Amino acid sequence: MRRNAEELAKMRKAGRVVAEIHEATRAVIAPGVTTMDIDRAARAVLEKRGAGSNFLGYHGFPAVVCTSPNSMIVHGIPSASVVLLEGDIISVDCGAIIEGYHGDAAYTAPVGTVSAEATRLMEVTEASLYAGIDQLTPGNRLHEVGRAVQDVAEAAGFSVVREYVGHAIGTAMHEEPQVPNYWPGTPGPTLKEGMVFAIEPMVNAGGTGTVVLDDGWSVVTSDGRLSAHFEHTIAVTDNGPEIFTIL
Ligand code: MG
Ligand code: MG
Repeated sequence: MRRNAEELAKMRKAGRVVAEIHEATRAVIAPGVTTMDIDRAARAVLEKRGAGSNFLGYHGFPAVVCTSPNSMIVHGIPSASVVLLEGDIISVDCGAIIEGYHGDAAYTAPVGTVSAEATRLMEVTEASLYAGIDQLTPGNRLHEVGRAVQDVAEAAGFSVVREYVGHAIGTAMHEEPQVPNYWPGTPGPTLKEGMVFAIEPMVNAGGTGTVVLDDGWSVVTSDGRLSAHFEHTIAVTDNGPEIFTIL
């Protein structure tokens, strides 16, 4: 679906709030901090900006951010009993609603000093996100996003998660069509000015396998290896991709 200038202006505002949450949550990440502390920092930004949360209450999700450490890929529930340790990596995914329009973005950050493999996984995952974003130009086809993400991740010897994908976004967080982070086997729709997508590669250090834990939310790698997640909300414009979820 294509958004008009007024809608895009609202999505730009929502994206900016998400970027502020990223800044505020990055600032609290350190050894000894709990994932509940990250949720608290995010809530403070939502409150300050008068923004709604598209995570809180989503299918019953109890927090405004997902916090997914180490081998957890996505959808981790913030908890006062999950303490970040030196050498961990932590994925933080969050969103905001302004005047009915949604933003959604994620990052993975180091906790103190991390392994060379963890650093490279984060760098490659973020690079794969930007390779995907570069494909968001009018006239291109949506499957080129996934192809570009997959090329970057696999060239580095990593793998791309199949079960969880990106999505269009607007008056709901998850709108059709989905945006796979891999070549889906069939061509995607043609991109047009005014379309908005959340592109979100989840890249595993090992294999593609995923497992959902007993809490019904937390998704982890089946081989226990690390996973990283980067996401932005981006509009297709005649001047190239416009990332909404940055300051
Ligand atoms: Mg997200
Ligand atoms: Mg998303």
